[in-house]
Amino acid sequence: MGKINKEWHLANKMSKKASFEQRVEWHKGHLKNCSCRTDLPPEIEKAIAIEGDNTDYWMLLARVRAREEGDARALDYYARAAALGEGIPSYHFSYAICLWRLCGAGRDPLGAAAALSQLRRAIRCNPHDPDYRLLMGDWFEKTGQGGASLIEYQRALALIETAQLTPHKIRRLSPESLERLRAMTGEKIRDLERDVRGKKDRQ
Ligand SMILES: [Zn+2]
Repeated sequence: MGKINKEWHLANKMSKKASFEQRVEWHKGHLKNCSCRTDLPPEIEKAIAIEGDNTDYWMLLARVRAREEGDARALDYYARAAALGEGIPSYHFSYAICLWRLCGAGRDPLGAAAALSQLRRAIRCNPHDPDYRLLMGDWFEKTGQGGASLIEYQRALALIETAQLTPHKIRRLSPESLERLRAMTGEKIRDLERDVRGKKDRQ
């Protein structure tokens, strides 16, 4: 049994007269925000039986399984959500993160390749998010692909600089954090350029 999110419970009381749909919505919110119960609420099970291709439910299941039984048990659910939600970046992204954790952050090359391929899909759906590119750069670097990593960081830098010129596009990042991100990415690129050049010289 996980920790109870008392604040969420206080702010979200379910009425005794709530309809089935309202109960499902309540449980969806609850699964996202609190881990006080480990079983799957019957309302959610029933909702999945009625609407088996609803990606929301598969993502919820994945999150619950990951929390209670670990990533290996959650993987199939993330995969299902990503397949049903083809084209929605966050589903590919969550699946990629689960694959990445399972491959020991890049230690198993096959798993790492699968994780990178899902992340690439997320990027294809949402090519303007520098965070995705930065993560891709990091994963390439951790799997020993310095050249590919450098390219991703350079792409991320270009996206960050564009965002600085058009701040309304990425509202979640303040001008200060964008500037910090730009500086960090620039530094990373210089390090990688040095490494990549060093390798070429040694060859
Ligand atoms: Zn709870």
